[in-house]
Amino acid sequence: MADKRKFYIDGAWVDPASPRDLEVIDPTTEEAVAVISVGGQADTDRAVAAAKAAFPGWSQTPPAERLAHVERILAIYQRRNDDIGDAMTAEMGAPTDMSREDQAGSGSFHIETFINEFRDFQFIRPLGDHAPTSMVAWEPIGVVGLITPWNWPMNQVTLKVIPAILAGNTVVLKPSEIAPLSSMVFAEVLDEAGLPPGVFNLVNGDGAGVGTQLSTHPDVDMISFTGSTRAGIAITKAAADTVKKVALELGGKGANIVFADADDKAVTRGTRHVFYNSGQSCNAPTRMLVERPAYEAAIETAKAVAEATAVGSARDPGQHIGPVVSKQQWDKIQSLIQTGIDEGARLVAGGPGLPEGVNRGYFVRPTVFADVTSDMTIARQEIFGPVLAIMPFDSEDEALRIANDTIYGLTNYVQTADGARRNRLARQLKSGMVEMNGTSRGRGSAFGGVKASGRAREGGVWGIEEFMDSKQISGWDGEAE
Ligand code: NAD
Repeated sequence: MADKRKFYIDGAWVDPASPRDLEVIDPTTEEAVAVISVGGQADTDRAVAAAKAAFPGWSQTPPAERLAHVERILAIYQRRNDDIGDAMTAEMGAPTDMSREDQAGSGSFHIETFINEFRDFQFIRPLGDHAPTSMVAWEPIGVVGLITPWNWPMNQVTLKVIPAILAGNTVVLKPSEIAPLSSMVFAEVLDEAGLPPGVFNLVNGDGAGVGTQLSTHPDVDMISFTGSTRAGIAITKAAADTVKKVALELGGKGANIVFADADDKAVTRGTRHVFYNSGQSCNAPTRMLVERPAYEAAIETAKAVAEATAVGSARDPGQHIGPVVSKQQWDKIQSLIQTGIDEGARLVAGGPGLPEGVNRGYFVRPTVFADVTSDMTIARQEIFGPVLAIMPFDSEDEALRIANDTIYGLTNYVQTADGARRNRLARQLKSGMVEMNGTSRGRGSAFGGVKASGRAREGGVWGIEEFMDSKQISGWDGEAE
């Protein structure tokens, strides 16, 4: 079992102030693969002090120098890609090919995109021709605490660490205690890139400990959090007394509105998206709303996709799905599947229990429910497992009403050949993102939600500005520049 007890503080791997071990469990085998330390107040204080001491120097470095550091980080990250992917396979069960290509690959994608956005970033901009001496300056916020989840570990870590340090902040990262290993490889990457000590720090720990200590810390100026809505609320309250900025990326319960004129791959695509990463994506289109004439055919297609979705060891190559992350998540998903049955939804594929032939590992059967109504628990709660809920609708208005009838507002999806209808729905759906006809959002687009999905914007130029304060200046002498 790997010994990963150290933290990365002030440019060095250091021991925790007092030992408190936590095992990292491989969800494929249910066995411990590593032991980490759970940090306490003294560790948090030490990391925050290092970040605070590094801030004046780092925030004053020329942007081109910060960019050069991040370019080095990208090159090392790409060289270590498979180590990072394999760490995620072990800690959260993403199958090896998907983990290296998509999970680890999302990190280099984001680092590259930020490099491109940052090259043209305007730190000081004129307000407008009407006010020639008024300027808006973009400045780093200070010490930023970054708290991340286990489901897309490197995606989340790169979306936070890279723009935060490019902007001139110094950071303390607390990755998920369930999936901390990839972040520790990431810390090795940053160490090798030669960042000045204290610019990036990593302390492992849980929400009640290091998470809360960062959120309440008087020397932390901002918290950027991705995770559950429950924890997002707790962090917002904990951060209130020190009036820090809080950016939240929270849960989702996306609707995928499929009209009868949708392309013939729409249902297959939507169903696969729900099962991808074993259903553990906040933007999964878990509620499929199907126009009545196409409803029964859609159910048959979704059933066929579920039955064709192989579930297997995360260590095996191939395009199958792996286990879910933990026993706790497995139990929660099982209980929600049972609730779906008890509340009268029609089970058309999968169901409770382990997949056939499996006797260990946190594996879930790809599950499809039909005849789901908006008041059912499986239509309201984020399940975070490979479970699709299909519901019929008769009109565009009804589809819109069902889609918006949720506390969440992260990503919604629309499938129709009717362009005017697509544009109408894109504007009326209450969510931070709307993706239509299987077209991914373009590079440089921001990720984020509204309502209980949180209101942060990550990625692209908005993802850099998120880690900055805008300063409004008047009386500026343009001639003096
Ligand atoms: P979680 O909220 O349990 O934990 C996330 C992180 O927060 C962990 O590092 C945890 O230690 C920490 N934490 C927990 N309670 C805390 C507290 N009171 N104070 C400070 N820190 C605390 O979430 P999870 O189970 O790791 O992740 C799954 C959730 O994340 C899902 O709801 C999913 O939708 C959401 N998510 C959202 C996005 C997005 O961008 N919107 C992306 C990925 C995941």
